[in-house]
Amino acid sequence: MSSHPPKSNHRSIRTTMAHAGRHPDEQFGFVNTPIYRGSTVLYPSVDALYKREQRYTYGTKGTPTADSLNEAWAEISGAAGSVAVPSGLAAVALALMAVTKDGDHVLMTDSVYRPTRVFCEDFLKRYGVETTYFDPMIGAGIETLIKPNTTVVFTESPGSQSFEVQDVPAISKVAHKHGVSVIMDNTWATPLFFPPHEKGVDIAIEAGTKYLGGHSDLLLGMVTANESHWKRLRDTYDVMAICAGPEDMFLALRGMRSMLLRLKEAERQGLAMAHWLKARPEVHTVLHPAFPECPGHEIWKEHFSGSSGLFSIILNPVSDKAVAAMLDGLELFGMGYSWGGFESLIVPFDCSTYRTASTWNPAGPTLRLQIGFEDVVDLQADLAAGFTRMHATKG
Ligand SMILES: *Cc1c(COP(=O)(O)O)cnc(C)c1O
Repeated sequence: MSSHPPKSNHRSIRTTMAHAGRHPDEQFGFVNTPIYRGSTVLYPSVDALYKREQRYTYGTKGTPTADSLNEAWAEISGAAGSVAVPSGLAAVALALMAVTKDGDHVLMTDSVYRPTRVFCEDFLKRYGVETTYFDPMIGAGIETLIKPNTTVVFTESPGSQSFEVQDVPAISKVAHKHGVSVIMDNTWATPLFFPPHEKGVDIAIEAGTKYLGGHSDLLLGMVTANESHWKRLRDTYDVMAICAGPEDMFLALRGMRSMLLRLKEAERQGLAMAHWLKARPEVHTVLHPAFPECPGHEIWKEHFSGSSGLFSIILNPVSDKAVAAMLDGLELFGMGYSWGGFESLIVPFDCSTYRTASTWNPAGPTLRLQIGFEDVVDLQADLAAGFTRMHATKG
């Protein structure tokens, strides 16, 4: 965490995006904080070495590059503090480790990012932490699942792949009544479209790999906490020293300057594509939080200020072979994981095999789309040709 106090928060978020975390006066006038590569920090005297009171003490504890990023991200998130870790999944792991110990119970949303689930089953369990999954649409009903040893509710809104918008404010209210902490994976909306701490979240994580980086060229995780959870988060981070690399933090700062503009464009592009898909006879349902048929759409309307460029569709029943014919010939959409970059992606998914607390019975095959910055007309032509291949494939 940086030693700089947050700048005035009376200004517009657009202005904050351009100015947060920058200290040209400390960088010989250069606009951006450069990449500081460093492990050892020298102390001027034995006394200083023992006291460890100087601003920088060791590379894992902070550098001007890390401070710029964390100071800006905490300000944008409305958080007491922020740490940067090497990936989004590392951010999930750090957040969960900050609020659990042997004997504790975690309540986890059933439509969570799959590797988070694996972290609970393969790792937390070994350390004596038990996990129960809850229906993402449970809202205040979470109260019935809270046990005496429950220490955290982990939410992700909207849910990975299936896009249920969760009532995080209602969940937080009930959780806090029972002294339970709330973590949210806020990667989809980012703090720009959903201010996590203002909505009751104690610890928020964002895969900086996605919209913060924005160019499919880095891996990063951001973790922020409110006043009551900041010390715990920072202490856990310090004992593990899972600090992000300096180049990645620099690229994240660079991405941050255009993040709001990119996110708004991603929203526009995503909506244009989602509306076009909704009108296609091959599409059964559009799972996009801005569409009424998306579970939790009303919650999205009330609590989010925008939608990003990632959503899913349920196709009308068609064979796997026909779906493969559609996807295999796409020229503009890439097939691959992650998202939030400038380029469009599409992946088939099936979350029915591992869900335990909520039903997932789609009418047909399901696809997740990330809409990039290509011309939407070209993207639509690419998908239309795919639908033609789909129809031409029998069996
Ligand atoms: C991608 C993603 C992560 C993990 O980010 P990585 O940097 O790829 O580890 C976590 N949560 C969500 C919702 C994601 O989409």
